Amino acid sequence: MATIKLYNTQSRSIEEIIPNHLDGVLRIYCCGPTVYNYAHIGNFRTFLLQDVLRRLLLAMGYEVRFVRNLTDVDDKTIRGARGENISLEQFTEKWINIFRNDCEELNILAPDVEPKAASHIAEQIAMIEQLIRKQYAYMTSDGSVYFRLSSFPRYGQLSGINVEQLATQNENSAGQTNLADEYDRDNVHDFALWKAYKEEDGGIFWESPWGKGRPGWHIECSAMSVKYLGETIDIHGGGIDLCFPHHENEIAQTECVTGKPFVGHWFHSEHLQIEGQKMSKSLGNLFTLADLKSKGYGVEAIRYTLISGYYRQALNFTFSGLDAAQSALHKLKTKVRNFLEEDNLFLAQIVESISKVNTYHYFSAAIEALKNDLNTPKCLGEMFSILNRTVRGERQFWEELYMLCFILGIERFIFCEKQEVGSSEIPSDIVELGVERWRAKQDKNFAESDRLRNLLIGRGWRIIDTKDGYRLEKK
Ligand code: AMP
Ligand code: ZN
Repeated sequence: MATIKLYNTQSRSIEEIIPNHLDGVLRIYCCGPTVYNYAHIGNFRTFLLQDVLRRLLLAMGYEVRFVRNLTDVDDKTIRGARGENISLEQFTEKWINIFRNDCEELNILAPDVEPKAASHIAEQIAMIEQLIRKQYAYMTSDGSVYFRLSSFPRYGQLSGINVEQLATQNENSAGQTNLADEYDRDNVHDFALWKAYKEEDGGIFWESPWGKGRPGWHIECSAMSVKYLGETIDIHGGGIDLCFPHHENEIAQTECVTGKPFVGHWFHSEHLQIEGQKMSKSLGNLFTLADLKSKGYGVEAIRYTLISGYYRQALNFTFSGLDAAQSALHKLKTKVRNFLEEDNLFLAQIVESISKVNTYHYFSAAIEALKNDLNTPKCLGEMFSILNRTVRGERQFWEELYMLCFILGIERFIFCEKQEVGSSEIPSDIVELGVERWRAKQDKNFAESDRLRNLLIGRGWRIIDTKDGYRLEKK
């Protein structure tokens, strides 16, 4: 089996992925979206990178069982359902459908299991009962249940957080007032496993041994991961913000119940930023897939942009980057089409005859980049440089190229009859002009950059310069 190496947040080093179970099946759990609104493109960066990892493992011959949950019980979903005066299920169903549609459009493989927290209340209650029985958790006077952090000395090892220091800082800076509504917790960092019913929950609650209420957020992932993947999993993924406290809490809960290591490999991806800034509603820079599509960008360009940065570095999303992605996809598609013509092949023949590739001759440098800590930018660079200098002709070339596109999740867009890629509205020659003009501007060749801008204006397109780039708009 091919060796795939990935940074492990837990060990702080790049380690080979080795299945923990004798059946060789890689068990992967990723924290999914909270379904109360549209997922934004930052969320999709994380889901797309997880998808590329999964596709790489599949292409390298691993058997993978992939679970990604849906968080449908929390303050936001409850508030949403109450605001619309509908049941929690009715409310979340709408957002789940939108999320699944977006994933489908982005060519993200559907999980093998996609469990909802609200459908697994019994499993969560059972886990909390075990934690209480083993004295890792306690009930407070209002009927909430908390995990006792002091009972798990390894707490903090994943993120490197020092809980004692945190507790002191918290008391010094925030003072007692912050704790007012949680006053009967033993320690400020003990976290909720079960939340007692509150007026604002309306009709949304479940019965439990501790009275009416609902599970805390963290316990759902422990319960569903154990249910569908067993006590020890191979890879656990999520955005970097989940490392503490969510993943620390997941480790504490699960390991205290099972007595076994919970996760072999922790896979965290850094965040997406927009034009150099944090994404936020108030800054007006929070984009959904629908937002970008309405600006004329194709889903394939969005996918390409979001996977084009190394997952261990924050990615700065810019409209010029999105335009460059369109242009790269256009180049790739044109090359594939020309090669096919030269080789006298039809697309359908290629796609039909694809088998698993065992050894990569042509694209080995691109594949190696992925096998070595999922280095997507390096992989894309290698792919283009190989395409530029390749003398091909063999069937092997096409199998490799198809598999590489499959791993990147762009096979559906490149190996299809659709002419235009990357944009749903902006013609590729306009995109090319935009990229050329951007390059001229970067090179401080202002005469050329003005010439290209005027050319674009003549063709009915306007360039809007932004802080870090530009975007094209129809006049
Ligand atoms: P949520 O719906 O907030 O639970 O988040 C779903 C996933 O998106 C989690 O893995 C988060 O860590 C991840 N995420 C949230 N914001 C960003 C961002 N700006 N960039 C990348 N991933 C993010
Ligand atoms: Zn989780």
